[in-house]
Amino acid sequence: MNLFSGRIPWEHTLPVIPSYPQPEGDLHCDCLIVGAGMSGAMMAYRLAESGAHTVVIEKRKVAGGSSQANTGLLQVANDKSLTACINTFGKDKGVLFYRLCQSSIKGILELQDKLNINPYITARPSLLYASTAEDVKLLRQEHENLVAHGFDSEFWEESDIAGRYSFSKPGGLYSRGDAEANPFRMVHALLDKAHASGVRIYEHTEARRLEYGDAGVVCHTEHGRIYARKVVFSMGYETQEMKKDRGAELVNTYAIMTRPLRIEPKWHERSLIWETARPYLYLRMTHDGRIIAGGKDETLTDPQRREVRVLSQSKRLLEEVEALFPELQGIVEAEYAWGAVFGTTRDGLPFIGPHPDYPNCYFIEGYGGNGTVYSMIAAELLADTLTGMNRPELELFSLTRPAKPSPQTV
Ligand SMILES: Cc1cc2nc3c(=O)[nH]c(=O)nc-3n(C[C@H](O)[C@H](O)[C@H](O)COP(=O)(O)OP(=O)(O)OC[C@H]3O[C@@H](n4cnc5c(N)ncnc54)[C@H](O)[C@@H]3O)c2cc1C
Repeated sequence: MNLFSGRIPWEHTLPVIPSYPQPEGDLHCDCLIVGAGMSGAMMAYRLAESGAHTVVIEKRKVAGGSSQANTGLLQVANDKSLTACINTFGKDKGVLFYRLCQSSIKGILELQDKLNINPYITARPSLLYASTAEDVKLLRQEHENLVAHGFDSEFWEESDIAGRYSFSKPGGLYSRGDAEANPFRMVHALLDKAHASGVRIYEHTEARRLEYGDAGVVCHTEHGRIYARKVVFSMGYETQEMKKDRGAELVNTYAIMTRPLRIEPKWHERSLIWETARPYLYLRMTHDGRIIAGGKDETLTDPQRREVRVLSQSKRLLEEVEALFPELQGIVEAEYAWGAVFGTTRDGLPFIGPHPDYPNCYFIEGYGGNGTVYSMIAAELLADTLTGMNRPELELFSLTRPAKPSPQTV
């Protein structure tokens, strides 16, 4: 699958990019991780802590998949609001999902001091603004639900927003406990650390054919066989080429990163910013004073068409940045612009866990705007499962759940 087009900034932010060899001959391990993006890296890091003999294979280079297109926002609030989660899954499951996201971000923030390559993980507040006056009512209800269940949320009136930003919106939710990171450096940092703890990592090594047995799995690559007791597939959106999930949908999305700004815009606490409209516009500032903006999701097209669309969609994203921050008009320039495949699920939850057709295997499909947060949740739940612990939370993310759940009574 051609995962992205255009020009992506992240590789340029890591002066010496670690590289890994190809395997020579057959390998044996407790756990084989297929795919070295954010999900595979989190999984490898977590398994390294548990002491399991782990092998990671990556058919491209480490972080060469969708993780390279990631814009680095880490949020508790999801594409699907807590209110909508409660309405769809019931109160217990809806709140459990948000709590898992909250503790995942806490765990990600703790990584900052444990890694040798700096992933620039920084705590940030978030502003979710109402795109229209009609959405204010929804935000008030969301605020009530968030506060009732112990999540951080302030309701901001129009004047609160206008006083702190260059733009005015009819209302918004301001929350603390979110974060930002450099996703490329983060994947490399996690794998570098896992490698130092004994995890074997191989690039340019593809899982081409798998044999599933009661005692384990044999993975055939172009360089030999890998005998594993368990396999974790963390192949991102390309998992859909191996096994189609009825509840998953792939689209194209777009993003830009500006050159460093010459002036500091009126942007409260450099918060993450997003909105209630769907598809939504989202923005953040980087530690070196650039703006990243993303959105403009549209139907998945062939990569050539996406290549062309990068130009027009990035122009629109820049116009939206200028509309929000008029002081930047004419002086802000996009240095990088890219378009990429992006996965969502019909019910708003990622797919994490086993599948009956693939014995001894687990899948991480962190589809949705909070993919990094889901990767962390998956690594925690699956690492515990692999070491024999029961994690009933996995039921929430089951790969065999109905594609479209029936609404619950709140
Ligand atoms: C434009 C854009 C912006 C985004 N912004 C955010 C954001 O702000 N915050 C956020 O949390 N998420 C964001 N996401 C989502 C995030 O990027 C994904 O959730 C994340 O990258 C998924 O990581 P992954 O490891 O599952 O997939 P990937 O990074 O794609 O890694 C999977 C790896 O598996 C490898 N692979 C596939 N098949 C095989 C095989 N057979 N053998 C060996 N290797 C194989 C691939 O080469 C790839 O490197 C964004 C996504 C896009 C596209």
